[in-house]
Amino acid sequence: MVRKFFVGGNWKCNGTIEEVKRIVAFLNEAEVPPEDVVEVVVSPPFVFLPLVKSLLRSDFQVAAQNCWVRKGGAFTGEISAEMLVNLGIPWVILGHSERRLLLNESNEFVGDKVAYALSRGLKVIACVGETLEQRESGSTMAVVAAQTQSIADKVLNWDNIVLAYEPVWAIGTGKVATPAQAQEVHSELRKWLHDNAGVEVASSTRIIYGGSVNGTNCRELAKQLDIDGFLVGGASLKPEFIDIIKSV
Ligand code: PEP
Repeated sequence: MVRKFFVGGNWKCNGTIEEVKRIVAFLNEAEVPPEDVVEVVVSPPFVFLPLVKSLLRSDFQVAAQNCWVRKGGAFTGEISAEMLVNLGIPWVILGHSERRLLLNESNEFVGDKVAYALSRGLKVIACVGETLEQRESGSTMAVVAAQTQSIADKVLNWDNIVLAYEPVWAIGTGKVATPAQAQEVHSELRKWLHDNAGVEVASSTRIIYGGSVNGTNCRELAKQLDIDGFLVGGASLKPEFIDIIKSV
């Protein structure tokens, strides 16, 4: 099974209209491999989604960074999956560690969000990953397995899920996992999918790495057998994001 390389850019809570236009301009000018070789998805803050969608080249797609767990209604400050569909936004990032840790999103809550977003027709970049403390205590695999189990509990069809392994200690720290460290967890996650979601899901689901990926370290990481692409934070705001896309 050939898994198409996937590169996501998570802009987090950054940008002004001018900066967003500048980022879209360098993306639009870039020469990158075709859509059937690499899938590129950028994720601006909610308020910039329509602007980015209207300006961005048609071979790149757009993702929201979150959405509400159920149908919209009396949930002040939330954005529903239905609204994203209505705006023509195809993707959403769910379970990012910044939301799990800072906003106390539990594994179950993330699993519910993933299932609901999929049920509305969105595609999901679902994030899992361990803290430094958890890694040092030897519980990395137990942590990411529990996070993935909460998704598997609610979801049978994995066709529209990309699983992002993002060790918390590597996010925004400049401390990237070594290719061997990342490959080890990716291969364990694939084995977990094999044992718990089936052989087909294990061979077809893209498992992407996130955590201080940049234009230089991406090449060695991309060579690893079970690394099917990247979720990129800081570097996705800069022209080096193009080098990351080209690492396919
Ligand atoms: C992220 O926010 O998903 C991420 C991986 O950030 P960074 O690349 O900045 O570590």
